[in-house]
Amino acid sequence: MKFGGTSVGTAERIKNVAGLIMSRQKSFVVLSAMSGTTNALVGITDYLHQGNRAGASEAIHQLSQKYEGVINELLATDKCRQQASQSIDEHIGLLRRMCGKATLDSVDEREIVARGELMSTALMQLYLTEQGQRVALLPALDFMVKSGSGEPDVERIRKRLTSLMNAHEGAEIYLTQGFICRNADGEVDNLERGGSDYTASLIGAAINAEEIEIWTDIDGMHNNDPRYVEGTRPVSQLHFEEAAELAYFGAKILHPTCVLPAKVNNIPVRLLNTMEPSAPGTVIFNTPPTGTIKAVAAKDNITAIKIKSGRMLLAYGFLRKVFEIFESHRTPIDMIVTSEVGVSVTIDNERCLDAIVADLKKYGTVTVDRDMVIICVVGDLEWSNRGFEAEVVNALRDIPVRMISYGGSNYNISLLVRKQDKLEALNLLSRHLFV
Ligand code: ADP
Ligand code: ASP
Ligand code: MG
Repeated sequence: MKFGGTSVGTAERIKNVAGLIMSRQKSFVVLSAMSGTTNALVGITDYLHQGNRAGASEAIHQLSQKYEGVINELLATDKCRQQASQSIDEHIGLLRRMCGKATLDSVDEREIVARGELMSTALMQLYLTEQGQRVALLPALDFMVKSGSGEPDVERIRKRLTSLMNAHEGAEIYLTQGFICRNADGEVDNLERGGSDYTASLIGAAINAEEIEIWTDIDGMHNNDPRYVEGTRPVSQLHFEEAAELAYFGAKILHPTCVLPAKVNNIPVRLLNTMEPSAPGTVIFNTPPTGTIKAVAAKDNITAIKIKSGRMLLAYGFLRKVFEIFESHRTPIDMIVTSEVGVSVTIDNERCLDAIVADLKKYGTVTVDRDMVIICVVGDLEWSNRGFEAEVVNALRDIPVRMISYGGSNYNISLLVRKQDKLEALNLLSRHLFV
């Protein structure tokens, strides 16, 4: 069971989540930081980078006050309150010491950002203990490790976690932090923003769980982005591949990395709503084809790059040379379309854009379109199913479309549109596809 930031955002919510945990016989629980905390911690690192110690101190003071309030509301006994204050004070103390440093390096930054999950789990452990539960807090920093490649080291995670669990055999509830880990050098690291979902899925795979539950603030994966479209509805079942496409192309409810460990180990992932626990939510598994379009998502901040070359294109090795340029700048490509005279690709990371464009110019004329959005339509889009691509294109007939990609998998059609057309495109697709 993984609970996101909003699910543990207040003392009231923590109690509510504890109720859900206690209703199970035995569970493994992953917690995010209380909502707002990771952003506040990132804010503190920003202040310190800018040399604004007063700003950082004020932000630390506010965090400290917030947690003091939560402790008083959450815990009933003096003993637990004292223990909680001591634990929170240690984390606040680390933040204050960081404030006193002359410069902040990347390890310091990751130490700061890790405080959120360390604090939320400390509070949950004490609350569950106060409720008479046998809870074992297994520190993620003791088992969630990355290998030299920067990816989670699945085998070491499994071994360390198994021995930690064996050491707490009598526990009814295992509790740990999402998001945080150690890198191959043993430094505190993390799985990127939103990465608690990944923690849950890695743990589910490591312990061969029956199911991985992602508890959040909405009743499952909706058929369009509820932040931009009204009247969206939850999708009851998704194939692993469909969920992966949606997560990668912008459905924030699920971190894109979360799907793979579940898929590889064939463990269903269930998306559930903490505020409405009896709602069925969405289950993600190896569902058979349904012959329907399931959902739409959008990924922002996309840059399209076109390389046009009259002579060289589609000669042997042209695409290889183009791709090698992106590889040498460690920039992944999202979408690709080709024609006789050119190739267009999209990237979501402009860090090396100037260098990439300079290198590509050796092979042809280069044009760049910024501020674009990938709209991703997901479902049973196996090519022999007729009519779906026509429906999608028809829905967007009044919107200028820069690229269309179809046939790369059995599960999606991607279209590239301008940022200013995103809202209308998402709404048009909902109106045409999900009436
Ligand atoms: P948590 O803090 O629990 O990890 P997130 O904020 O990361 O929660 O994810 C939940 C949010 O994802 C929802 O509140 C919703 O606004 C957003 N979201 C975006 N696209 C979708 C979608 N297709 N279905 C459901 N929620 C979505
Ligand atoms: N607390 C982290 C974040 O806000 C990780 C997570 O919530 O998944 O990004
Ligand atoms: Mg999330």
